[in-house]
Amino acid sequence: MTERVYNFAAGPAVLPLPVLEEAQRDLASMPGTGMSLLEMSHRSKPVINVIDEAEAGIRRLAGIPDNYKVLFLQGGASLQFSMVPMNLLTEDGQGDHIVTGNFAKLALQDAQKVGRIRVAGSTEEQDFVRVPYQDELDLDPDSDYVHITGNNTIYGTAWPTEPEVGDVPLVADLSSNMFSKPIDFTKYGLIYAGAQKNLGAAGVTLVVIRDDLLLRSPETLPAMLSYNIHAKASSAHNTPPVFAIYVLGLVVKWLAGQGGLQQMGQRNEEKARLLYDALDTSEFYRGHAEPGHRSQMNVTFRLPSPELETQFISESTAAGLVELKGHRSVGGIRASIYNAFPRPGVEALVGFMKEFERAQG
Ligand SMILES: *Cc1c(COP(=O)(O)O)cnc(C)c1O
Repeated sequence: MTERVYNFAAGPAVLPLPVLEEAQRDLASMPGTGMSLLEMSHRSKPVINVIDEAEAGIRRLAGIPDNYKVLFLQGGASLQFSMVPMNLLTEDGQGDHIVTGNFAKLALQDAQKVGRIRVAGSTEEQDFVRVPYQDELDLDPDSDYVHITGNNTIYGTAWPTEPEVGDVPLVADLSSNMFSKPIDFTKYGLIYAGAQKNLGAAGVTLVVIRDDLLLRSPETLPAMLSYNIHAKASSAHNTPPVFAIYVLGLVVKWLAGQGGLQQMGQRNEEKARLLYDALDTSEFYRGHAEPGHRSQMNVTFRLPSPELETQFISESTAAGLVELKGHRSVGGIRASIYNAFPRPGVEALVGFMKEFERAQG
């Protein structure tokens, strides 16, 4: 029996144990092939099957409409910060970005290096405790797209619903909440997510893009930066990250086995509520996010002093609750409780918090 701690890491993050066990069991030889997946040509039938099955599983699980392409790319979510404007900005066109946290700022900075980008909303002055309200947005109906960050991994906030953007394609970085609940794809032009938080292993970025937007990719773009070329080549223009796609396929199969996205959404809401209730009923702990804009994936909070936070982290680690330290840019505590994070681990953290408060408060 493998010893496993409760891993609250923000990413790379906990994976479902059955996924790890299946990958381990089949590592040296994929059933029926006599070879490891790591050793096979990406043009071989078994590898093409792995990629096709991952895509089919994703389409089934999330109900992705037929007029959207599913792409498996490399370069992390971070490459999408520049690929989005490189592909979606029209000649003399502009993009709108809404800035709600660290990754949103990085996305803005890279996009600004590519073309003309407006800041159509920001909650930086509010210390990123929430996302903007609709009436705070300054959207331009002539923009080529609007970029949002669906879940702000570092601050622990999330959009409760998508902003209204009219006919302008909505682009979302869902790296830390993709498949945490059902998604209405028709509200989006493009969604991207690095896999290592809620979807699988590092090395693959999932992109879901509406067909008509593929026509915007300029012919002058280098091949590896063009959505249109990746789409035409079914994500195999060059050697794709086969093993990471395989793990993503296993995670998707596991999600379907758990009852699908509706069920996951309900469970994630319940897990997060356990922690937020603990924060709301305490004078000792202080949640960062405004209640209406709380993330169900990353729960961020403070203790009365940095010294107590350090002590909290060392004692929780000793108790087998690991990786609770907040991001270096904001400090405090962050509990990341993605799809694969088990409810008993959340209950254990709540129990630990109560004990710690009793001893220190
Ligand atoms: C982690 C994260 C990123 C960066 O992902 P990489 O795959 O490391 O490039 C971008 N956006 C969000 C919302 C994230 O949580």
